Amino acid sequence: MKKIFAANWKLHKTPAETRAFFKSFKEVSAKATGELVFFPSAISLEAACDTVKGSNIHIGAQNCYAQNQGAFTGENSAQVVKELGGDYILIGHSERRQLFGETDGLIAEKVAMVQNLGLTPMLCIGETLQEREAAHTFRVLETQLLLGLAKADKSKPLVIAYEPVWAIGTGKVATPEQVAETHTDVHGILTKLGFTAPILYGGSVKADNAPTLIAQPHVSGFLVGGASLEVDSFIKIATV
Ligand code: PEP
Repeated sequence: MKKIFAANWKLHKTPAETRAFFKSFKEVSAKATGELVFFPSAISLEAACDTVKGSNIHIGAQNCYAQNQGAFTGENSAQVVKELGGDYILIGHSERRQLFGETDGLIAEKVAMVQNLGLTPMLCIGETLQEREAAHTFRVLETQLLLGLAKADKSKPLVIAYEPVWAIGTGKVATPEQVAETHTDVHGILTKLGFTAPILYGGSVKADNAPTLIAQPHVSGFLVGGASLEVDSFIKIATV
């Protein structure tokens, strides 16, 4: 399975900061040992797509609506992301689920629509601390995959990002044992549902924990928040 190193910039970096980042990142991007994907904020997408043209860097949006156009004030269209040159859409990040009330049903529509446009959905799944402590992790992930992929096409590209909610932006990374066990479970659920997809780990990945985490079974790369904002820290992760 190919390795993917993805960067979720959340609500960081203006268009000018985005251009400046890629100008220096392009000087080191050839060292990456897998595919590079960046998710800038929607307003910085055009700056990102323009600046990475001709490089090995892929761009995606952090979200899109489940329709390409229409009376949906404030939403973003995957069709526009495609026209700008983007290849990926992040779907169902825990911040979208928790802060913006995204349901598995809406997420399933987005996954299908993105695939139909010829872009790759990166579907995020993950349990809360409360769910892990109650030993519900498997059930939560199984439900998120079953419902989130209900309308997906098994023959089209798909990437899964397993991100334990309690590890996102907290500095509390999952242990190698937890990552091994959970990625093996996610791989098993996907296989049972008939999907083949790279499974990325996300949640406080840093240059120092990346080598141990990438060595775990069914870990095909990372989705990185905080440590993706600086060229040096992200390229160290992307060269494990
Ligand atoms: C994320 O936002 O998806 C993420 C994993 O963030 P961090 O690496 O900062 O935990």
